[in-house]
Amino acid sequence: MNKEKKIFIVRCGEVALKGLNKPYFERMLVDRIRRVLRKYNEVEVKRNEGLIFVKTPGDLDPDLIVGEISRVFGVASISPAIEVDSDLDEIGKAAVEFMQELIEKKGVKTFKINAKRADKNFPVKSPDIARTIGAKVLKGCKTLKVDVHDPDCLLFVDVRKGKSYIYEQKIMGYGGLPLGTNGKGMVLLSGGIDSPVAAWMMAKRGMLIEAIHFHSYPYTSERAQEKTEDLAQIIAGYCGRFKMHIVNLLPIQEAIVTNCPEEETTILVRRFMMRIAEKVAKETDCCLLITGENLGQVASQTAEALVVTDHSVQIPVMRPLIAMDKIDIMDIAKSIGTYETSILPYEDCCTVFLPKHPTTKPKLEKILESESKLDVEKLINDALASKETIIINPAD
Ligand code: ATP
Ligand code: MG
Repeated sequence: MNKEKKIFIVRCGEVALKGLNKPYFERMLVDRIRRVLRKYNEVEVKRNEGLIFVKTPGDLDPDLIVGEISRVFGVASISPAIEVDSDLDEIGKAAVEFMQELIEKKGVKTFKINAKRADKNFPVKSPDIARTIGAKVLKGCKTLKVDVHDPDCLLFVDVRKGKSYIYEQKIMGYGGLPLGTNGKGMVLLSGGIDSPVAAWMMAKRGMLIEAIHFHSYPYTSERAQEKTEDLAQIIAGYCGRFKMHIVNLLPIQEAIVTNCPEEETTILVRRFMMRIAEKVAKETDCCLLITGENLGQVASQTAEALVVTDHSVQIPVMRPLIAMDKIDIMDIAKSIGTYETSILPYEDCCTVFLPKHPTTKPKLEKILESESKLDVEKLINDALASKETIIINPAD
């Protein structure tokens, strides 16, 4: 038995369903796993028969490795495993040791063996493997009993060509597709709950992201911007480092407030945000915009408002949260770790100059008429001239 190295079996989610493109997706997934583990020495990541095998030095904390791999999109589940030669005696010995450790650590009293013979040339069939190994475990661990209905431990024995694997846990990943398999999108990232979730969801489908954040300094504080950077860092924990563009929207907001009807302020500001984001997206090879908008959530997210917003740009706008309930969005935010930061009370640029009665059913003609009072091109170019770009690295 190889005691020096630790083994992790990584299962691909949807990647496994890909037909002819499967090798490409698997290669991308292996590449992503290698990337997140490259900070550790002597880690091996290999593909074999539809699975990915990760070997790490024995002194590395397995929970740390599982944590890293589980954040890689495309990973369905991970099992810390023991690798032995495909020989029933060897498997039996390893299974006994494995169970002894579980009895000691977790007080396991009952077990069941789930055996699978991926190597059909192996001379013993799965039910017989289960029976043989089960008998060896019972003999080696006197306190254990078999319980086929509700065992404390379901022990998997996976017999493959040359090597076999013993494991107990399947730790779930997020699924999705490997990053880099679906282009790049520009997410409009605020400090709220929704847009970080939207970014995460698109990244989970394999899309690389870049972000743009608007502020209204000095009306919005530096701390508000830091909060968005903190959120971006959490997202980077899933999709690696990315760029965030930061643009001051205040002159545009002031021009709108001075020249246009008050109730149209929000929708007009949103159209400017989209246009600026579109320009930056084009410069940075982002093929679409991503927002955290959600049908009916606020005045600017009624169906009519979304249509008028979309008319300001040609680039497609993806709204992955469009039909979700807030409570479900909040659940995702909690599970990916952005929620606590999102609810910190710092004002967003959208709350500056918030109209008392924003229009919920804007008409495009009226909005265009209001915009005709503004020098749209100049306002956009001036805002872009104020753009700063920072690199967001994953939080430690
Ligand atoms: P969130 O929780 O993401 O802030 P929200 O429910 O507060 O969303 P709005 O403030 O209307 O809704 O914003 C809708 C979307 O517009 C956001 O999800 C985000 O994509 C984008 N957005 C809003 N404010 C900003 C900002 N300051 N910078 C960049 N994008 C923004
Ligand atoms: Mg917001």
